[in-house]
Amino acid sequence: MDEETHEAIEELHAMLDRARVIVPFTGAGISTESGVPDFRSPGSPWMVNKPIPFDVFVSSREARAEAWRRKFAMDDHCPDARPNRGHRALATLVAEGRAPGVITQNIDGLHQASGIANEAVIELHGNGTYATCLTCSWRHELAAIRQEFEASGEPPDCLICGGVVKAATISFGQQMPQRQMLRAHEMTLSADLYLVAGSSLVVFPAASFPVVAKRNGAKLVILNREPTDLDPIADLVVRGEIGAALARLAN
Ligand SMILES: [Zn+2]
Repeated sequence: MDEETHEAIEELHAMLDRARVIVPFTGAGISTESGVPDFRSPGSPWMVNKPIPFDVFVSSREARAEAWRRKFAMDDHCPDARPNRGHRALATLVAEGRAPGVITQNIDGLHQASGIANEAVIELHGNGTYATCLTCSWRHELAAIRQEFEASGEPPDCLICGGVVKAATISFGQQMPQRQMLRAHEMTLSADLYLVAGSSLVVFPAASFPVVAKRNGAKLVILNREPTDLDPIADLVVRGEIGAALARLAN
């Protein structure tokens, strides 16, 4: 680690110590250290195929079968992802009452796996570790769907109502989850320190939250391996590994 990064990390911890309400906002970068590929990075399995738009998924049984094939292939890419030091550090902040929760663009469920309660994790892009019925919202587990799908080749229908079953992620062309967006907005306004960790802040509307926090008077810290468009308005930019930067908080 170079001197500049080392100094930035010291400043980060001084700011965390002074803050009353820390709101972490996380993206793919925090989970790449757990082996979960960033879907926008070159060579990632997410970039090989054009995404299937939501309306096509709903209207075409064939598209649904293709979506499930891709989903299970992607899941095989990172079968045993575990929370890393970055996730554990944020879990500590929540456990100590220094952060009310975490707002995340990730769909991997690793914040919950690190010990943060479900209700305290605001998932802007949904969750890829289970599925739901688009009609009745019943939760369906992936293992059962997969077994059935691999035996029949047919995409799953809801056992309760016969509706379309989809991974609980927000797809291209699907409406953002309104309740989660509202909760994220509220939590954002409660921050006096807004900590972006591992988001390149390019996916809107999610990436507008740090701007809202900053306009509301919060200090903005951006912890990311690559530059982001919001670096110029940040109070502190830390360029480096998230796990390493937050390690001393991790239990
Ligand atoms: Zn249903």
